[in-house]
Parts: sequence; structure tokens; C-alpha cells
Amino acid sequence: MAIPRSGPYIWVTWLSKLLVGDASCEWATWFRAHHKDYAKMPRTHDFAAWQMDHAARLAEVRADLEFDGKTVLTERQCHFSLRGASGAMLAGRPDLVASEEQRGVIYDIKTGQPSLADHVQLMTYMYALPHVGRFRGMELSGRIVYRDHEVDVPASAIDDAFRGNLFSLMGRVASSDPPRIAPSQLECAFCDLTPADCPQRIDGAQANEVVDVPDF
Ligand code: SF4
Repeated sequence: MAIPRSGPYIWVTWLSKLLVGDASCEWATWFRAHHKDYAKMPRTHDFAAWQMDHAARLAEVRADLEFDGKTVLTERQCHFSLRGASGAMLAGRPDLVASEEQRGVIYDIKTGQPSLADHVQLMTYMYALPHVGRFRGMELSGRIVYRDHEVDVPASAIDDAFRGNLFSLMGRVASSDPPRIAPSQLECAFCDLTPADCPQRIDGAQANEVVDVPDF
């Protein structure tokens, strides 16, 4: 059963698709930010396969970096929680951080199709990590590792425009006023909230129908 949190808690991956417009139901992230222990839609066999694939790829990348003499920290070692002046928490866990002296690269390993949301997820880590103990004062750039190519994101990408968009979205999902709810077949199909918490959820039976028209 969903229990109200003592304060807004926002996990980085809840923000990425909203920031680039690949998702529009801000209410889903607002609900997660304000509740814990809510029931979740069951995960499929595909998710377990994806998780194992991701873990194997991450181990490969880590081994390559260590072979090159880098100091590598992995997921739980890179966990961060930032509390803003509003009281809202921003938390996340990048895949890897490889460092050499005072320079570091945050790695995010992706096994699916490239997406702009991948960039802003990594950029949110790049914004957050330099505030955290062992990374404080370090110049951090980013690298997204896909199956067949890599994309570098320079530290300069964390500019005022990015911060403004990030903080504006965080303000909406941390607010006590719920933002807009936007049920759609495409988003609800990938949303972990159950009908018990989201009565507007659209399931398969209500899928968008195809309408035949004679006009074209
Ligand atoms: S189930 Fe659909 S409408 Fe409900 S929160 Fe998730 S995306 Fe939004």
C-alpha cells in the first residue's frame, strides 16, 4: 500500500524521458516522489534478461577501464542523495565512474536503442556527482556506451539552460500540487503504477483503436 513519504524523493531515471518530451505524464513521477512502498506492475521475463545483459556489459567495460589503469567505482559506490533548499531529494546511481587524479568520466551503459533521454540521464549525474564527497572538486565528463558506439558528453553541457530545465521539472514533481496526468496507451504500458494508485491507467483492453476512413 502506498505510504506518503516524509518529503519529496526523486530518482534520476524518473526525470529523463519527461525532460526530453519522450513522456508527458508528470503525475507518475509526482506520485513516486511523494509515496513509497506502492504496489508495482509485475516485471516480465524480458526485464530479467535485460538486467543480466546490462550487468554483463557493465563488467566488460569495467574490466577494460581497469586494464587501462583507471580507478573504477561501480553503481553502489556511486550512489548519491542531494537535498535541495526546498527539502526535495534527488538520488541516483550511475553505472561507473572511472578516474585518474582529479579528472573523471561517468559511464552509462545502454543495451537498447539510443535515445535523447540517455543524454539527460547522464547529464543529471554530471550535475549531481560533483556535489558528493569523493567526487567533490573533480572535473567530470560523461560517456554513454552503446553496443556499437560511444557518445561523449563534455562537462560544459551542464549549463544554465540544462540546470533551469532540470530544476523546473523537479519543482513541479516535488510540489504538493499534483501536476497534469496524461494517460495514454504508450506510456501506461511502460508505467509501473497499478490501477489501485492510478485509476486512469489505460490497459491493453483499452488500446488505441485503428479507425478506417475513406478520405485518403
Ligand atoms: S498509469 Fe498512465 S496515467 Fe497513470 S501514472 Fe502511469 S502513465 Fe500516468
